[in-house]
Amino acid sequence: TDVPLSPVSFLRRAARIWPGQVAVIDGERRFTWAEYADRCRRLAGALAALSVEPGDVVAVLAPNVPVILEAHFGVPLAGAVLNPLNTRLDGPGLAFILAHSEAKVLLVHESLAPLAAEALASLDRPPTVLLAGEGPPPAALPGAASYEAALAAAAPAPWRLPGSEWDPIAVNYTSGTTGNPKGVVLHHRGAYLAALANMTVLGLAHESRYLWTLPAFHCNGWSGIWASAAAGTTQVCLLRVDPVAILNRIEKEAITHVCAAPVVLTMMLNVHGGVPERGPDSRRVVIGTGGAAPTSAVLGAAAARGFEVIHMYGMTESYGPTTVCAPQAFWAGLPAAELAAVRARQGVPLVVVEDVTVLDPGSGLPVPANGRTLGEIAFRGNTVMLGYLKNPEATAEALADGWLRTGDLGVLHPDGYVEVKDRAKDIIISGGENISSLEIEEVLSRHAAVLEAAVVAEPHPFWGESPAAFVTLRPEAPAPTERELIAWARDHLAHFKAPRRIVFRELPKTATGKIQKAVLREEARRLAAEQPAA
Ligand code: ATP
Ligand code: MG
Repeated sequence: TDVPLSPVSFLRRAARIWPGQVAVIDGERRFTWAEYADRCRRLAGALAALSVEPGDVVAVLAPNVPVILEAHFGVPLAGAVLNPLNTRLDGPGLAFILAHSEAKVLLVHESLAPLAAEALASLDRPPTVLLAGEGPPPAALPGAASYEAALAAAAPAPWRLPGSEWDPIAVNYTSGTTGNPKGVVLHHRGAYLAALANMTVLGLAHESRYLWTLPAFHCNGWSGIWASAAAGTTQVCLLRVDPVAILNRIEKEAITHVCAAPVVLTMMLNVHGGVPERGPDSRRVVIGTGGAAPTSAVLGAAAARGFEVIHMYGMTESYGPTTVCAPQAFWAGLPAAELAAVRARQGVPLVVVEDVTVLDPGSGLPVPANGRTLGEIAFRGNTVMLGYLKNPEATAEALADGWLRTGDLGVLHPDGYVEVKDRAKDIIISGGENISSLEIEEVLSRHAAVLEAAVVAEPHPFWGESPAAFVTLRPEAPAPTERELIAWARDHLAHFKAPRRIVFRELPKTATGKIQKAVLREEARRLAAEQPAA
């Protein structure tokens, strides 16, 4: 009766009850649940034939195509640990992770063969490579074996559950927004529960159709791959994430669910002609967003176009989404200021999260739930990582006293909602006051000419730090000057919170679409040294 919880069970069940129905669509290719399950079991068989043993790490480097979906089942079925790789890292960045995780096998999609070759060239003990794709092996990876041939030659592995539900299922590296990526070790039990929670929150059902726009290598296996198997949802792959392609697929493939980072949502809403208006008989399309703070302008625009927006907050260390805010009735038609207030309330804990709180940095005790007192957001529950791979110091710091400490600052509201104010590393301390960069970005993004804004601290001779804003303007709108935009910000923010410098430029982003504030902080520091802000 003691059955370990593992997402592998979802696939076995789906293949039994929907064997002939479509599970995965990849361009012209379609796999039924029976075929998809068979491919995953063959992958496990192929890994065993490559002498992958329980506990070994198998990495995957692929865009959102079948091999990465299959790896999420085939690797755990072989008892191994999945290491999904960020496809936008460069060769040295990938080599760092492959060496750190000690991956024994690497599954590569043909579109990324040159990148894989660059990473492998610098490794002392490179992993065995299986190359997925339809074309002949690319010249970049001459020694690689064919993934499809390996599947064809392998015997399907028997269905097996892990020895313990606490066994590691994956090592996912964080986005590296604040430093080197850290390898987050996650267990079967947490993955199982996170997938069920995500299925419930997104409302995934057998009739749903999920479009793969979030990078599948990020901690999305739970919401996309595993939750889809739990629900029997059809997944539509997408080789390149581009806003026009997304909008076309939503129409053509009758998509009901999309998950997109705020940056992709912004691009979708700014495609010429925009998101088609919903007709009276059209489907309900759910958009899950999070990973960074979406502004109220984006949430409002998405809601006005008829999308049902679900805003989530979480992190790799907590298996992705951990709090959720889906107040549909609120979004559409709310005035900007009110929407901003709603937007800020990131949400309530998912059902599998035992508690979310805000801890006082001094005492380590929860702050009063008054919506005002700032502290560090912390989680407790079933979906907390085992720890960081080979990094006991960082693990001890993050998992102190039974809480997962997030490094994010926030406040707790009387009704249990947590409001994320900022990353501890991004908060601006000016004249002793804490200023949330997110709050300033939110206000700037309401200006008609502003497409995106990022605010960082710059050193200030009198205030200690002052806010500097980096802004991308909309090409179609009349461009304000720096002075005009500063004056506008002063009209909409407490004076001390208004940026004292505004630089117009493109914003540097990580592979998961997060703004690299460390890069901007460096630039602000340089500018401040040349000429201090007023
Ligand atoms: P690293 O830990 O390597 O610096 P990272 O923290 O960006 O990178 P992830 O685990 O991908 O890596 O991101 C989690 C972080 O993203 C959270 O701690 C939080 O700062 C931010 N975040 C996620 N969702 C939201 C949201 N809805 N609103 C605001 N911030 C968010
Ligand atoms: Mg982090």
